[in-house]
Amino acid sequence: MSCIDIVPIGEIEEGLLLFLRQNLSQTFRIQTRIRHRSFDLASVYDSMRNQYHSSGLLLQLINDVPPGTLKILGVTELDLFIPIFTFLFGEAQLNGLGALVSTHRLHNQFYGIPENEELLRERLLKESIHELGHAFGLIHCFTLRCVMNSSTYVEEIDQKSTHFCNLCQQEIFKGRKEEISR
Ligand SMILES: [Zn+2]
Ligand SMILES: [Zn+2]
Repeated sequence: MSCIDIVPIGEIEEGLLLFLRQNLSQTFRIQTRIRHRSFDLASVYDSMRNQYHSSGLLLQLINDVPPGTLKILGVTELDLFIPIFTFLFGEAQLNGLGALVSTHRLHNQFYGIPENEELLRERLLKESIHELGHAFGLIHCFTLRCVMNSSTYVEEIDQKSTHFCNLCQQEIFKGRKEEISR
């Protein structure tokens, strides 16, 4: 068995995790499971910025790899940053094991407008597919609707779809076929 592990970091609503589990399984045509574990959040907290260091969290995420794990997606409410950026929606290791997404700036509420649960789910799904896409080896895509199009602002997330364009789709499953036939 090989699967994508969905790992909550801090409190995440179970319904949101189940939604991701179902949809990621369909998109990547692979089993998914929700796995709970603890993290040392204090060590990645920056009190000056009141944010959490994304790369440090990603390292913690990949230091625990149970049998059967192909990729790990960390999901958190925490506000993430890396030193060269004010914030991040997520981060991933290109062609690697780990991917990380934050819902913090995906909430309408964050921008002072009424919360929209459906929109939050859609944004989280897009960013999860995007970061896992990197972990499966995809780089950014210039096709506007493709989920691998890069997003700096939440409006840009809303403009793209939850799908890979044909080229990205081919690329991601080309590698997978080789993996299976080996
Ligand atoms: Zn990206
Ligand atoms: Zn694409």
